[in-house]
Amino acid sequence: MSALLPLSYIVAAALFILSLKWLNTPATARRGVRVGELGMLLAVVGTLLRQEVVDYQWIIVALFVGSAIGVPLAYLMPMTAVPQRTAISHACGALAAALVGTAEYYRETPHGFAMVALALEVLLGSLIFILLSLTFGVLLIVPIGGADMPTVISLLNSYAGMSAVAMGFVLNNKLLMVAGALDGSSGFILSIIMCKAMNRSFTNVLFGAFGQVQAGAAAAAEQRTARSATAEEAASILDAARLVFIVPGYGMAVAQAQHKVKELYDALTRRGVDVRFAIHPVAGRMPGHMNVLLAEADIPYDKLIEMEDANSELPQADVALVIGANDVTNPAARHDRGSPIYGMPIIDVDKAHTVMVIKRSMSPGFAGIDNELYYMDQTMMLFGDAKAFVAAMIKEIPAAAAA
Ligand code: NAP
Repeated sequence: MSALLPLSYIVAAALFILSLKWLNTPATARRGVRVGELGMLLAVVGTLLRQEVVDYQWIIVALFVGSAIGVPLAYLMPMTAVPQRTAISHACGALAAALVGTAEYYRETPHGFAMVALALEVLLGSLIFILLSLTFGVLLIVPIGGADMPTVISLLNSYAGMSAVAMGFVLNNKLLMVAGALDGSSGFILSIIMCKAMNRSFTNVLFGAFGQVQAGAAAAAEQRTARSATAEEAASILDAARLVFIVPGYGMAVAQAQHKVKELYDALTRRGVDVRFAIHPVAGRMPGHMNVLLAEADIPYDKLIEMEDANSELPQADVALVIGANDVTNPAARHDRGSPIYGMPIIDVDKAHTVMVIKRSMSPGFAGIDNELYYMDQTMMLFGDAKAFVAAMIKEIPAAAAA
C-alpha cells in the first residue's frame, strides 16, 4: 500500500501535464478534460489512502455535499456563464487553501520556511475571499476597466494555483505542489498571452484606469445614423460573394446561434462561397469561447482563422458578417487615444468591401462604448437575435431553401 501512494501521485501529475497539453487545441480538448478528470480521481483516491487519514465519516459527507452542488452546476450552467462558474470554483479552492492554512497554524504553529509558506498560502488563498484581503482584492480590481477584465480573471486564477503550491509545502504534499504549480503557471502564462493579444503591458492593464466611458464619444454617437437591411437583402449579398469572413462574438454565445451559423456556412459553401471565421482571442467571455462553440457545431478547424492572419485577408473579403461581436471590431481601438479600448488589436472588419452586423440594438458591448463601425458607409445593421436572424437568412439562400 505504501508504494501505491507515490505511484498514484506520479501518474496523476503526468496526467495533469498531458491534460494541459491536449487542452491546447479544440481537436484534442475533450481528451484533455477526460485525462485531467482521471488524474484528479487518482490524486483524491491516493490521498484518501494515506495513513494520516484515520476517519472517512466527514470526508464522505463532504463528498456528497460537493457532488450535490457540483453535478447540477456542471450540467445546468449555460456556456455564457462559464467564466463566472470558473471564478466561483477558484474562489472555493482558494478559500479551502486559506482554511487549511489557518487550521494548520493552530494545529502545529510552524516555524521558518513552513511559516512563510503558510502565510503565503493564507494570503493568496484569501485574496479572493476574506475581509482584509477582500478589501485588497477590490482595490486591486477597481482601476481595471472592462476590456482588460479577462486578463485579470486569469491572473487571479493563477493566484489560487500559487496558494495551492504553498499549501503543498505546508502539508508536505508533493502532488499539491505540482498541481498548484501547473495551475498557477498556466494561469500566469495565459494572462501574458492575453496581454499580448491586447497589445498591453501588465502594468498598463493593472494600473491603466481603463473602462471609463467617454462622454464626448457617446454624445457624438447620438448625431450619427446607421443603415439597416433585411434578412432577404443580407442573404442576397452573401450569396453573391466570393469570400465571406464571419466574425463571431459574445452575442452568438448568448443566442446559442452556433448551429444555425453552421447551417449558414453549409448553405453558402454549397453555393460556392468561400466562408472563413475570424477569431479574436478575447471574443466572448472566456479565452477560446468562440473556438469551443464553433467546434461544438462541427465547423472545420481549418476554417477558423486567427486574428493576425484574418486581418491580412480581410481587405480581399467581399463581406465581413459580424455575429454578436462588438468591442473586438471597434476601429476606435486603432486610432482613438481617448477610447477605453485604445491599443487592443481588433478584427479589421471595416477593411472588407461590405460589413454586415447582426445584433439586437445599438447597445454597446462589454466595454460600454459606442462602435463607430456601425455608422460607416459600407456597414449594414441587421437587427435581431443572432439565431433568429441567421435562420431567416438561410431561408433566403436559394439552394438551402430547396434542400
Ligand atoms: P461584446 O463587445 O460584449 O458585444 C457583444 C454584443 O452582442 C453586444 O453589443 C450585444 O448587442 C450583442 N448581443 C447580445 N445578445 C445578442 C443576441 N441574442 N443576438 C445578437 N446579438 C446579441 O462582445 P465581443 O465583441 O465578443 O467582445 C468581448 C468583450 O468581452 C471584450 O471587451 C473583452 O475584453 C471582454 N471579455 C472577454 C473575455 C474573454 O476571455 N473572452 C472575458 C471577459 C470579458 P445587443 O444588445 O444590441 O444585441
